[in-house]
Amino acid sequence: MNDAATIATRAETFDVEAIRVEFPILATEMQGRPLVYLDSAASTQKPRAVIDALARVYEADYANIHRGIYDLSQRASAMHDEARRKVERFINARDWREIVFTRNATEAINLVAQCFTAAKLGPGDEILVSEMEHHANIVPWQMIAEAKGAKVVAAPVTDAGELDLEAFERLIKPETRMIATVWVSNVLGTINPVTEIVGLAKAHGIPVLIDAAQAVQHLPVDVQTLDADFIVFSGHKLYGPSGVGVLWGKAAHLDAMPPYQGGGDMIERVSFSGTTWNEIPFKFEAGTPDIAGIIALGAAIDFVERIGIEAIARHEAELLGYGTRAIQQVPGLRLIGTAPEKASVLTFTLEGAHPQDIGMMLDLDGIAIRTGHHCAMPLHERFGLSASARASFGVYNTTGDIDALTKSLHRVAGMFQ
Ligand code: PLP
Repeated sequence: MNDAATIATRAETFDVEAIRVEFPILATEMQGRPLVYLDSAASTQKPRAVIDALARVYEADYANIHRGIYDLSQRASAMHDEARRKVERFINARDWREIVFTRNATEAINLVAQCFTAAKLGPGDEILVSEMEHHANIVPWQMIAEAKGAKVVAAPVTDAGELDLEAFERLIKPETRMIATVWVSNVLGTINPVTEIVGLAKAHGIPVLIDAAQAVQHLPVDVQTLDADFIVFSGHKLYGPSGVGVLWGKAAHLDAMPPYQGGGDMIERVSFSGTTWNEIPFKFEAGTPDIAGIIALGAAIDFVERIGIEAIARHEAELLGYGTRAIQQVPGLRLIGTAPEKASVLTFTLEGAHPQDIGMMLDLDGIAIRTGHHCAMPLHERFGLSASARASFGVYNTTGDIDALTKSLHRVAGMFQ
């Protein structure tokens, strides 16, 4: 049986065609061709259930939350609160109060940097990250390090794109005040050994943040089992709307931290002689949140749970295997990131062709991939590159999408070599 047939057989309980029907955008065209969407690592497309949830809130259930005594406001508040409970269940948090809604993963990391880590930093102190971090897990640490005379240290990545765990451990020093690493690399696809990383951090008594922006949509995430101090992710990469992110933090940390921003909702009592803070998580949620977006994130979680994250992971692993074998047949193609533990990301360069040109040529065939540095300049530098091309898969992708990609890449290779 060929690869595609094997996948079709295994997919009996996972009906990708039925799933595709739930995503209206997949029926649209790009450049007059059927859309082949291979940029889910940048942002996933949205299922009908999420689009409908957003529309329904504005059509029938919308009012500001936690403020109004009237029925509509109470209803919107209840739906918003239920979404927090869904996040709590989805990541197996101990308590809904540990779930803070932010704009995105980026804001969640900035919140931890400014409200948790900054106060612990002095001159000469260090924050340990890795070379494969997204800029969102580098720059917020650089900003507080610069203000405090501390520095950000990056653990190296091997040629295969794996974290060098021995070097990582050697870089943990008495000066290390915080560890922050990505669970799944948005460029390499590498799934990092987060259990070991958290174990090392704990053994040295150092708080650890895990950037799960590329993990929650691909793997089961259980925050109690992992036992990190903070975990962050964005709704828009989890089939939810943009504008909503999640910070999970241990209640004891969140309780002890000062607020991030001041304003409505985050206070207990305001007076000109002094103001006191609301309880967690509201202490970190100043102002009116993205009410409809948060409710729709709840719908996205329902969607993922209905299919099952394990089934999604299996489907994507099969696509990754199929895609890896297929694109490696393209002459002059160099795959960046060949770790054995990988999520569904294929990053590559093509001899003689600038990634920008690859992206433009594929666009003409209706294929959407990402080109550039993917917000990971230090990682590209590590591999001697300024840019690369990236195809990434989600729950709705098929072997047909990969066949289209491979065919197009053969055409591009033929033109540039
Ligand atoms: N971390 C990783 C690994 C990412 O891939 C991304 C986005 O691509 C982020 C953080 C930042 O996510 P956002 O832009 O939604 O804040």
